[in-house]
Amino acid sequence: MSIDDFHSGRTIKATRKPHECEQCGRQIEVGSPAHYAAGRFDGYFYTQHVHVECQAAATAYADLNGSWGEDFPWFQHMDRDIDWTGWLLEHHPIVAERLNIEREEDEVEGRH
Ligand SMILES: [Zn+2]
Repeated sequence: MSIDDFHSGRTIKATRKPHECEQCGRQIEVGSPAHYAAGRFDGYFYTQHVHVECQAAATAYADLNGSWGEDFPWFQHMDRDIDWTGWLLEHHPIVAERLNIEREEDEVEGRH
């Protein structure tokens, strides 16, 4: 960290270009709302676009676990662990689907 580091984010109504969501790795379609963040870390400027649903899930997870700052969750890079994938399935099913997280086999049995 250096004294010039900063991070700020806001929600935009519609992206003008397609962006890859930093949380789920899927594309955010042009015209979709998104969470946009920009900042500088160790001298490197960066921008991020995240689906609004993915942002909501990540901030809810950080709130629950106190994982802010360097511990902030980035779902696509986290180890698949039943604790958080189960929570995500229950509370943020749209995001779970984007991450290809599925329920345990026995819960979907009989659908085929
Ligand atoms: Zn996303």
